[in-house]
Amino acid sequence: MVDVVVAGGGPVGMFLATELRLAGVEVVVLERSVDPNPHSRAFRLQPRTLDVLDSRGLLDRFRADHLDWPSAHFAGLRPLLDLGRTGGEHPHSLLIPQAHTERILEERAAALGADIRRGHELVGLRQDDAAATARVRLVGGEHAGGEYEISARYLVGCDGGRSAVRRLAEIGFPGTGGRVSALLGDVTLDDPDKLPSGIPGTLRTPAGLLMAVALEPGITRVLTTEFGRDLPDPETPMTLDELRDSVRRVTGEDVTMREPRWLSRFGDATCLADHYRDHRVLLAGDAAHVHFPIGAQGLNLGLQDAVNLGWKLAGEVRGWAPRTLLDSYDRERRPVARAVLRETRAQLALMNPDESINPLRELFGELLALDEVNAYLAALVSGVDVRYVFEDAEDGSLAGGYAPACAIMSAAGATRPAELLRTGRGVALLPEDSADLAELRAGWGDRVDMVGATVKGREGAAALLLRPDGYVAWSAASGLADDAVDGLRRSLTTWCGAPSEGPR
Ligand SMILES: Cc1cc2nc3c(=O)[nH]c(=O)nc-3n(C[C@H](O)[C@H](O)[C@H](O)COP(=O)(O)OP(=O)(O)OC[C@H]3O[C@@H](n4cnc5c(N)ncnc54)[C@H](O)[C@@H]3O)c2cc1C
Repeated sequence: MVDVVVAGGGPVGMFLATELRLAGVEVVVLERSVDPNPHSRAFRLQPRTLDVLDSRGLLDRFRADHLDWPSAHFAGLRPLLDLGRTGGEHPHSLLIPQAHTERILEERAAALGADIRRGHELVGLRQDDAAATARVRLVGGEHAGGEYEISARYLVGCDGGRSAVRRLAEIGFPGTGGRVSALLGDVTLDDPDKLPSGIPGTLRTPAGLLMAVALEPGITRVLTTEFGRDLPDPETPMTLDELRDSVRRVTGEDVTMREPRWLSRFGDATCLADHYRDHRVLLAGDAAHVHFPIGAQGLNLGLQDAVNLGWKLAGEVRGWAPRTLLDSYDRERRPVARAVLRETRAQLALMNPDESINPLRELFGELLALDEVNAYLAALVSGVDVRYVFEDAEDGSLAGGYAPACAIMSAAGATRPAELLRTGRGVALLPEDSADLAELRAGWGDRVDMVGATVKGREGAAALLLRPDGYVAWSAASGLADDAVDGLRRSLTTWCGAPSEGPR
């Protein structure tokens, strides 16, 4: 019996494992693939994900050798979205192949002590009041085909869009799709100039869409999207001829391509799990939501699921979580995914090559030139618009939003919220002269770092309680008056549980 089994060691599973280990929770990661995936679907991490990585001290590792990109596109339209308008500390995205993201997260999970089992596929699942039990089949190696069972207090399905956990737990996955057929190839082009390249570099013709991006010298990602065309049976391997034919249909060009490094097909399935939790089984990442990969959001959404879930699950396992804490994961994250699904459907509709869409694109292009619209959509695709709804938040409070960009002066010197969050614990920033600091430390100091500090550069934030995921649980515009301390105590109890009963 272990604390948590994470089924699926993709980026979301590995990140969740790091979050659980930070909180001292025992975690086993079951990953079907024997070797790390060398191919990258995603290439872009968004501003809110960069905030989260910064809050765990990982940003420099992600940044090394990778470029920031200040813009994003909406439906391939011009003008581009200006991420500089998103505010915050990281108003840009980071161009990094998913394989690098996965490697960094796996190394970190292993370094923190996660038990990572590659070549272990979850093939069965049952649960009762005491545990969730996975049946695991060994893939590859001398014991290939062998099976064993492992029980855990909780099991999280991070096993991708075709999630076995979701199917075995009988969690519905309703949605739409089947209208689009997309083909991807990482190939060598004899004449790269024949295809429009760059970022976003999307060509829209009456027959479909084409994107070509140089990944590295000699390797170009070619991606076609055709509407109203069925995808072949997924079991049929994709061929280079298929991609060549699709490029010819979309562009009218015969493009010579060879040495495919990776070929893949996908459609526009856009689905959301009916619920993210079924007793001891939870879902995160693509297992919980899938959409057409437009706007570089799926991986980002999943990493933010992981940072939302990790500390709540840890609180449940370690016994301090209030009764409603774990269910707040579904309550907070499903609406965020629903909004992304709607927005990616909207982008895909705008990219439809049918000429009846052209006036809509023209009009949308004009709207994008308006500062307010551009800023609204930039916040939407980059995830910085996320604000959770907390019932007990007072008017004007920052509660529900992400930690504000501000400077913090404490006895230990100048710092930032992101630096104080590195331990994965909650953080309370309270005026140094607060009479209640000692009592609050005695009550919640085992779960929350109580820091006597002055917050500078952000109005309305003289005192703050940050959850471990970086979202503001409570704020006070000025010092800690009596009613403010009462509000803080209530918020601490809501998010961090009852105060300890140790000596005061
Ligand atoms: C062409 C394309 C481009 C994209 N670009 C972007 C982008 O720029 N930005 C972005 O944010 N998103 C992008 N995405 C989406 C992104 O790739 C996914 O959202 C992301 O991979 C989801 O991560 P995950 O960990 O939830 O699932 P996955 O990456 O699918 O990982 C699931 C893991 O579970 C394992 N597994 C599956 N079944 C089992 C089992 N039964 N037992 C054990 N292990 C199992 C798999 O081997 C895999 O390692 C793109 C997607 C595509 C197709």
